[in-house]
Amino acid sequence: MHDNPPRPLREQSATAAIIDGKRLAQELRDKWKLRADQLNAAGIAPGLAVILVGEDPASKIYVRNKIKACRELGIRSEEHLLDGDSPIEVVLEMIDRLNADPAVHGILVQLPLPAQLAPAAVMARISPEKDVDGLHPCNLGALTAGHPRFVPCTPAGIMEMIKSTGMNLAGKEAVVVGRSNIVGKPVALLLLQAGATVTLCHSRTRGLAAHTRRADVLVCAMGKPRAIGADMIKPGAAVIDVGINRAPDGKLVGDVDYGAALTRAGWITPVPGGVGPMTITMLLVNTILSAERYAAKQGIEFES
Ligand code: NDP
Repeated sequence: MHDNPPRPLREQSATAAIIDGKRLAQELRDKWKLRADQLNAAGIAPGLAVILVGEDPASKIYVRNKIKACRELGIRSEEHLLDGDSPIEVVLEMIDRLNADPAVHGILVQLPLPAQLAPAAVMARISPEKDVDGLHPCNLGALTAGHPRFVPCTPAGIMEMIKSTGMNLAGKEAVVVGRSNIVGKPVALLLLQAGATVTLCHSRTRGLAAHTRRADVLVCAMGKPRAIGADMIKPGAAVIDVGINRAPDGKLVGDVDYGAALTRAGWITPVPGGVGPMTITMLLVNTILSAERYAAKQGIEFES
């Protein structure tokens, strides 16, 4: 066994290299559009159904962006709007209908849900074969066991961003701050599967900075504006900022103090324009993958 050399991962220049989520997302979309085109040409239009319960303004914007992105890639999308006070039976009945519809290959329930709807019960009702968000317990279990069917979208996007740096994760120290089921836990599993030594931090972690300063790869998914300062970052590290927060001055900022971190990190993702565009892209990728699996069951195979 050899220890990792204790030198920085990337030779320090004045500023970190920016991992441009918009550009990376566009490259992926161009690649996957060809696969969507193949499906459409074979008479199988990849289909995504989005369920939105209630009138949450941010959720409405997210859904609108997803529908627009689907259109650009040749994915058929349908939007199902339910009243904010809908009882769980109504939501589950809609999911059952979409589960049974062969023209729908992916089902997404926009989160957060109104208080009367338990997210776990709603997610568990989606057929694991159509769970393009990757949040069904079966899919989370498959991810844990190391053979994921659908990787949750934000973690999948994060891994693509790390891949774009050319860094080999084997033996690297990866620190994830945040342990949600949507981001923190699955990304920690993916980093582990890529061979990194992973530390998963959360609000009860003592001495957070001592952990983050060891990180060759630091993923911040806390939802705390600019909570990670430059002094918490190892020189040359790859810093992935998942947080989307409204600062007191109204600006959209991440969990990392971006301006300060630029002088310290080797690579960094901006907010906005970082992880966000990648998340939507991975939803499109999962929907196309699901449609390809459906096509394969009909005996239609494509070269990928
Ligand atoms: P959650 O609120 O579900 O989880 C936040 C996590 O951060 C929790 O595990 C919490 O710990 C931890 N945490 C909070 N404060 C601290 C602290 N001071 N020190 C250490 N850990 C802390 O959030 P999500 O995972 O859903 O989202 C995180 C952020 O990422 C949000 O800003 C969200 O908007 C953004 N996001 C962005 C996406 C994108 O596409 N760019 C997609 C999804 C989310 P504990 O568990 O102990 O409470």
